[in-house]
Amino acid sequence: MRPTLLDPLFAAITTLPGIGPKLEKLYRRLLGRDDEPRIVDLLFHLPTGAIDRRARPKLREVEPGTVVTVKVTVDRHRPAPPGRDRAPHLIYASDDTGDLVITYFRARKEYLEKLFPVGETRYVSGLTALYDGMLQMVHPDRVVDEKGLAVLPMIEPVYPLTEGITANMIVKAMDSALSRIPVLPEWQDAAFLAKNGFPDFGTALRKLHRPEALDDIAPQGGAHTRLAYDELLASQLALGLMRAHNRKRAGRANAGDGHLRRAIIAALPYSLTLSQHRALDAIVADLGKPERMVRLLQGDVGSGKTVVALLAAAAVIEAGRQAALMAPTEILARQHFNTIAPLAATVGIRADLLTGRERGKDRAVLLERLESGDVHFLVGTHALFQDDVTFRDLALAIVDEQHRFGVHQRLALVNKGEAVDMLVTTATPIPRTLVLTYFGDMDISELREKPAGRLPVDTRTIPLERLDEVVDAVGRALKDGQRVYWVCPLVAESETGDLAAAEDRFKALRKRFGRAVDLVHGQMRGSEKDEAMRRFSVGESQLLVSTTVIEVGVDVPEATVMVIEHAERFGLAQLHQLRGRIGRGHGKSTCLLLYRAPLGETAKARLAIMRETEDGFRIAEEDLKLRGEGDVLGTRQSGMPSFRIASPEAHGHLLPAARDDARLILSRDATLASERGKALRVLLYLFERDDAIRLVDAG
Ligand code: ADP
Ligand code: MG
Repeated sequence: MRPTLLDPLFAAITTLPGIGPKLEKLYRRLLGRDDEPRIVDLLFHLPTGAIDRRARPKLREVEPGTVVTVKVTVDRHRPAPPGRDRAPHLIYASDDTGDLVITYFRARKEYLEKLFPVGETRYVSGLTALYDGMLQMVHPDRVVDEKGLAVLPMIEPVYPLTEGITANMIVKAMDSALSRIPVLPEWQDAAFLAKNGFPDFGTALRKLHRPEALDDIAPQGGAHTRLAYDELLASQLALGLMRAHNRKRAGRANAGDGHLRRAIIAALPYSLTLSQHRALDAIVADLGKPERMVRLLQGDVGSGKTVVALLAAAAVIEAGRQAALMAPTEILARQHFNTIAPLAATVGIRADLLTGRERGKDRAVLLERLESGDVHFLVGTHALFQDDVTFRDLALAIVDEQHRFGVHQRLALVNKGEAVDMLVTTATPIPRTLVLTYFGDMDISELREKPAGRLPVDTRTIPLERLDEVVDAVGRALKDGQRVYWVCPLVAESETGDLAAAEDRFKALRKRFGRAVDLVHGQMRGSEKDEAMRRFSVGESQLLVSTTVIEVGVDVPEATVMVIEHAERFGLAQLHQLRGRIGRGHGKSTCLLLYRAPLGETAKARLAIMRETEDGFRIAEEDLKLRGEGDVLGTRQSGMPSFRIASPEAHGHLLPAARDDARLILSRDATLASERGKALRVLLYLFERDDAIRLVDAG
């Protein structure tokens, strides 16, 4: 239960004076809430900038175009002549150094005459301009007298707005909201706060909403940073608690004696890279412990994750148990199976495949064999966690290309066995900050090396006008016996558009090169796709035109050329994925990125990075810089909450510290029972990461 201490913050926003049901609707939109916004939502609606009104020059010193607050005497009014609504109402004012014309359009004369009584002193604040050689201020932001000046915020926060909610309304609502902040126990370490000069939680919010210096409002300033760190710590604590909970759930020692692994390694036509060895050692060590494994295997395209996955499976099979590998698409599942099955067979591991396509009698037989333990290793798609799929003794679930699966799907597979260990692999590296954010509950292995003997891919960018030359070059490659991928453009958001583009290209290329040209796209039936992939991989076809269905994981080492049309429409990660399909064999590979000029800034940067590097870890970081965090992970699909206060750009660098901090805290106080632990619970509730608390309290 949420501590009652926090009740004032979680009270509905309608408990603030002046906010009724009508405004509540607008606040929903402003604060991005599906249901009733609460005071905490308003308080976490941070200003995105500030207007600095501190400049107080004499009129002669005013630099037109700047925001100033000036003290003037009102000399006279010149209202709009009757019947000429469009003409402005002018107010002539001055100080002992010069004159100022204050201009209002469509304002009521009586109102202005009251606001600016002739002969009196007023302070006006706003943007100045030079008009007809006169210093002007059009619609001052603030007009106050001596008393008003005393309480005028000299640095005024600027909030994101929505139609129907003005800045003034937010400022007013925020005033009441700020007054509701209760005194909260400090959850951060006192020495840490002192060292960084961070204010306490309430003070930080007050500084952000009522800044007295520009630093109060800057993302890098103490107030914002403190709150961002609070949020990061909350998320890392939640992940840490989850992780601890995972491990505590009784696991089993699942690793066997190594005989199958040795046999597989001996049968491989290559030797494992050092990274592969290290990753495997870490995995086997985890499997051998009587705790649950939850490990992420990160590696670049082509870094050899599949064989590591197979060896992990072998380890549990040695122990007499079963393993499952789940891939996001049928093509991938089939391909994994095709890679794995022959190797598995040589050492006596019985592997099988289950996708949506296995039906009827075959499926029934397969399920029976699975339940009896006759199948050791089951590879498949989502079909793996259908209700009637029962393992005799599932010990390891390998989830490939994880971020396409939701968290609950991961769990569904894990629930198919007793204390199942989990290994998650990603298609390409994920930027470090995102790994900590989204996979912070996992241990991490990275494959940083590429297998020996890989040649770098020669990547070039070519404007679409030179398409003919590209087709000629492809022709030469085909004559030379090479295999070529031709990826067709993404057509804005529409699969049918993608398809049309691919079909057109297919027809044109087929006309030119004849039967060597084949087509694969997302709307083909599974069996047709497989058949097209098979023809290409055995060389029956040589040029494969495709939509982006070949994006993930497809492995045809003989392919050496990739053409990507309208490369400027693809994201960086996607381009890298696609390019990763070539450069896998021994031949020298070429990637041609065709673009339509002129390129926008971001597209230009993306293509430049593609030319510059093939390092997936670096590309992932650059990608994060070029796009927002949601995009990199395929948006909300991952089902993880994103941050409200911390931004990856301004505060991402604090994540490692927050992670270490969370680990240290939990190592000393695993159930958050100490005095500080209790304060940290408040923090978790405040940022709504309290699911994790329930795990702890349930024991
Ligand atoms: P990933 O899934 O990480 O993209 P794969 O597991 O598909 O990469 O491996 C890509 C290719 O590299 C496969 O053809 C595989 O047989 C090969 N491979 C894997 N490990 C090695 C290695 N250590 N040395 C040489 N080739 C390897
Ligand atoms: Mg793979």
